[in-house]
Amino acid sequence: MHIDLSEILSRENLVKELEVPFEAEKIRYYGDDANIVSKQPVKLTLQNEGKNKAYIKGETSFGLMLKCGRCLKPVEYQMRLTPEVRIPCESEEGSEELSYVSGHSFDVDGFVLDECYVQLPMNVLCSEDCKGLCIKCGKNLNEGSCNCDTFVPDPRMTRILDIYNANKEEV
Ligand SMILES: [Zn+2]
Ligand SMILES: [Zn+2]
Repeated sequence: MHIDLSEILSRENLVKELEVPFEAEKIRYYGDDANIVSKQPVKLTLQNEGKNKAYIKGETSFGLMLKCGRCLKPVEYQMRLTPEVRIPCESEEGSEELSYVSGHSFDVDGFVLDECYVQLPMNVLCSEDCKGLCIKCGKNLNEGSCNCDTFVPDPRMTRILDIYNANKEEV
């Protein structure tokens, strides 16, 4: 949903609080679509900070359907986000273009998703001791063992494989 910033940028000392729906349905996650579920409205606080200046803070939470990094089972991962921004956005390199601001139009979904991409986990697990899939036959080892000869020399190997897989998916 887009909101109009004209009033907050022009009326000195104005503070506004509002709740708007979060409309995004999915995000890209390592080349895959991850559905957004159990959404909450976005609580916004808008604060005028002088002529054509404003501070905007948001707060929301939702679930992201990701896949377990070991067994690929869907896992609902809870995101709690509190994005904030100053407009105009000044950084060391000068004034920064924000993808979700166009003129006086402010894209609330874009604002939340920008922060979401920063906070995304590298890897999620359905449970800390997920046994993963058999590397030979692909059986989900949480549901029972198979008859393959897959000698794992050290339980720490699963950790190393997680890191290896996470890095591999990033390329
Ligand atoms: Zn798992
Ligand atoms: Zn097997």
